[in-house]
Amino acid sequence: MARTHNLGFPRIGAKRELKFAQEAYWKGQSSLAELKASGAKLRQRHWENQAGLDLVPVGDFSFYDQVLDMSFTLGNLPERVRGFHGDVLDNYFRVARGRSAQAAEAHAGCCGGVAAGEMTKWFDTNYHYIVPEFTAGTEFKLDAGRLLEQLAEAQAQGVKAKPVIVGPVTYLAIGKAKDDSDRLALLPRLLPVYAQLLETLAAQGVEWVQIDEPVLVTELDAAWQGAFETAYGELKTSRVKLLLATYFGQLLENVALAARLPVAGLHVDAVNGRDDVLPLIEALPADSVLSLGVVNGRNIWKTDLNATLDWLEPLAQRLGERLWIAPSCSLLHVPVDLASEQKLDAEVKSWLAFALQKLDEVRVLAQALNQGRQAVRAELDANGADIQARRNSPRVNNPAVKAALAKVDARLGERQQPYAERAARQAALLKLPKFPTTTIGSFPQTADIRQARSQFKAGEIDEAAYQAAMRAEIARSVREQEALGLDVLVHGEAERNDMVEYFGEQLDGYAFSQFGWVQSYGSRCVKPPILFGDISRPKAMTVEWIRYAQSLTDKPMKGMLTGPVTILNWSFVRDDQPRAVSCRQLALAIRQEVLDLEQAGVRVIQIDEAALREGLPLRRAQWQEYLDWAVECFRITANGVADETQIHTHMCYSEFNDIIASIADMDADVITIETSRSDMELLDAFDDFKYPNEIGPGVYDIHSPNIPTEAHMVNLMKKAAERIPAERLWVNPDCGLKTRQWNEVIPALTNMVSAARALRESV
Ligand code: GLN
Ligand code: ZN
Repeated sequence: MARTHNLGFPRIGAKRELKFAQEAYWKGQSSLAELKASGAKLRQRHWENQAGLDLVPVGDFSFYDQVLDMSFTLGNLPERVRGFHGDVLDNYFRVARGRSAQAAEAHAGCCGGVAAGEMTKWFDTNYHYIVPEFTAGTEFKLDAGRLLEQLAEAQAQGVKAKPVIVGPVTYLAIGKAKDDSDRLALLPRLLPVYAQLLETLAAQGVEWVQIDEPVLVTELDAAWQGAFETAYGELKTSRVKLLLATYFGQLLENVALAARLPVAGLHVDAVNGRDDVLPLIEALPADSVLSLGVVNGRNIWKTDLNATLDWLEPLAQRLGERLWIAPSCSLLHVPVDLASEQKLDAEVKSWLAFALQKLDEVRVLAQALNQGRQAVRAELDANGADIQARRNSPRVNNPAVKAALAKVDARLGERQQPYAERAARQAALLKLPKFPTTTIGSFPQTADIRQARSQFKAGEIDEAAYQAAMRAEIARSVREQEALGLDVLVHGEAERNDMVEYFGEQLDGYAFSQFGWVQSYGSRCVKPPILFGDISRPKAMTVEWIRYAQSLTDKPMKGMLTGPVTILNWSFVRDDQPRAVSCRQLALAIRQEVLDLEQAGVRVIQIDEAALREGLPLRRAQWQEYLDWAVECFRITANGVADETQIHTHMCYSEFNDIIASIADMDADVITIETSRSDMELLDAFDDFKYPNEIGPGVYDIHSPNIPTEAHMVNLMKKAAERIPAERLWVNPDCGLKTRQWNEVIPALTNMVSAARALRESV
């Protein structure tokens, strides 16, 4: 009998209940007890949703991030928050979000201001975790409170609980040694705490623990491979059975290592790593459980159940009781329930599956394996018909787009002159001061803006009223920016719900969900549009807004677009053609928008590629191929303009060291990046003239409510000026300001503009 299980459930809730509970608490509108109760309610509901499975994840719920949870479980709190004397959850939020120094002097060492932990992308997903911090002296100490509490709740609810934790090797691998010490040297101190944790869980009657080691799908050097042997060699005496879970990619050369680790079971991603499965079966000990992740936990397409069974049935024969069936990875990366979607096009909807539907696919597959296909004949037939219909739909295939794509050649991506000449022409036209100031695009998405948008969507106000409301917001942003004395203005993106959805909504080949939210970090969610067909742009998408904004000011107004690579990487994309092909279609569509903006007199155009880096394949051997087509797509999009038109691009939370040549190859005139939390360390990549064009290293951490001081920003820029010639530096925040409030933004930008003025005097 094949058993079924799940690796993790989307914690945010079908209607983003967690987000609203978190934010109410952070704003002081609800109590800690209310927040905790909302969490418990969500967990209860999600366990009910998964009741049909043989094993259900516990501990996958988090009030912010599962990696930060693990840091707290292991007692690995940054030194700066150790003196805190309030509730653990409050301290946890201090690490997650940072805290302004507003508490009394006397409390500066315990509960005063504190910097937020660094955040980075979880493998190749759009989920961000809080990076564990280490030093050579890091000690660990078990705090199993959160996990035990959730386990007790689950057990009381009759859930067949399988606690989920981040494994020790992955935990060290994804963290950062603040003093550049060797993280692996901490393993001997870390393992006893894991052993103690497993023992604690065993004492609570737990049989299986899922221990996530996704780092096994990346290239590992000998030291890290050795760490796996050491870690699991030591944990093998535990009384619980370990299901070691890998996902997001292929094990490849790590198959043998994974197979010989002394654990009771192994979970692998059998969607992305299907080729690993046969060698793995050969290599595994005869009593090991093999969990096959056959339902894609990263996309929203229905699984081809019949084809999957064709592949699975012989394996089930071979593995018998040892076979488990699951989604490929945690369902954290997909929305909760397709049934909530009332407005989605019926044809497209028939091709999709969200978390609950994916779990149902797992059930159907297991039933077909255990009782024969006839037991689920109706489900299999209906699935087969939907798969077939999608393949043949004329809505997926547009011959005109395919023809345009066939004509793309390299000249489309060339500017007329090299950067130095363009820069001189742009300087003559724009007349900007040294250390020019700008922002990254969005201004606060206020309650008024959101209300106007939801009224418009609900048909309560008409198009004209909505337009007027958005124009009023744009006018406000322009007024504020003029008062602040910024040099290159933005329109503020009031009309955009989201930087990708906004464009997707206006492109043909895209569909939209109403509730298809996926957690990005903390309470932030994105609703990735669904790229289902060939892409085209029926008409201009942003020109009228930018033209209006420019009409209100004599300062240069930046046109604001999202680049093709980011649109691709933040969408649910087709699984029936290569990503590169979908990306080139997007590039052609956005290029038309760039040219239309230029035509409308816009002199500065920013094309955000926030997600360029996150599209990097997990394995380095595949990086260059991706970078080549990604850069080509950016160049096709941007480089049709005249030399006088200044192209900006923007990237967030990126590290550039290893991709700097490709970033330079994009040839944007100006790049703005996120650097403030890393104390300008990220700029090292741009040092030594490796990056020849202009750079705006972010000096204002927009993820935190803290107001940066002028001195702090001057100091950061001085560090930047040690690495980059001052003539090529811009002064700007790390990213857009849409998640902040005006009363935070105004003082922060006031300080930022003063910082730029001070720099003009002194550097
Ligand atoms: N222009 C976008 C904004 O300001 C950029 C956001 C991003 O890079 N994530 O909101
Ligand atoms: Zn950004």
